[in-house]
Amino acid sequence: MKHGKKQNIRKKPCLFCNWAEDLREAQKFLGKNAGEITVKDMAKFRFQTDRDKNRPWKSQFIKANEYFFAVLSQESKIVGHTLIISRDHFSDITDPKLISQGNQFRIAFFDIMTEMAGKLTRLTNDPIPKVYAMSVCEHWSKKELEAAGKSYDTEHLHFHLLPRINAMRTPYPYYLPESMFVRCDVSQAKDDLARTRERIMGACSTKT
Ligand SMILES: [Zn+2]
Repeated sequence: MKHGKKQNIRKKPCLFCNWAEDLREAQKFLGKNAGEITVKDMAKFRFQTDRDKNRPWKSQFIKANEYFFAVLSQESKIVGHTLIISRDHFSDITDPKLISQGNQFRIAFFDIMTEMAGKLTRLTNDPIPKVYAMSVCEHWSKKELEAAGKSYDTEHLHFHLLPRINAMRTPYPYYLPESMFVRCDVSQAKDDLARTRERIMGACSTKT
């Protein structure tokens, strides 16, 4: 059963399904295709319900397509840490429903991953840019476990993208890049996230 159905959301809401539903609402109101929604659209958009104040993802939004959307992570392991989230609910990459997805879905995934990776390399000024990707779809912090048990199912297909900075290039046997993914207790304040997003979108405007 599709996880995002309303009766399930009421019973045990999934955080990312709620965000995807918000995105559908914004898209419908704006009358735009997913790929046309801009950061400015999202900044100006006001949700019709009183849930507007509880939508942190809106200020983290970068871009969307028909099947995925990209947001900055508030728990940034490094500046530019981005989440690529599926708009439909899949538990992780082993979800059998993924097998039956069509080519449009597969292309949309590759497109948003590579496009976002391209944008993120511009944050680092690294002459040999690289972006790391990871998908786990499990959460283990106390806060997340409590949320998963009580209010939100947070295990929804998503991928993490981390732009490499030069300081992460360490010689064997120091696995600094891998260890970046397990950094704990890191986060970016709203203002810092806004600045990161401006840098990403600034980089976009030079391209388009
Ligand atoms: Zn979900």
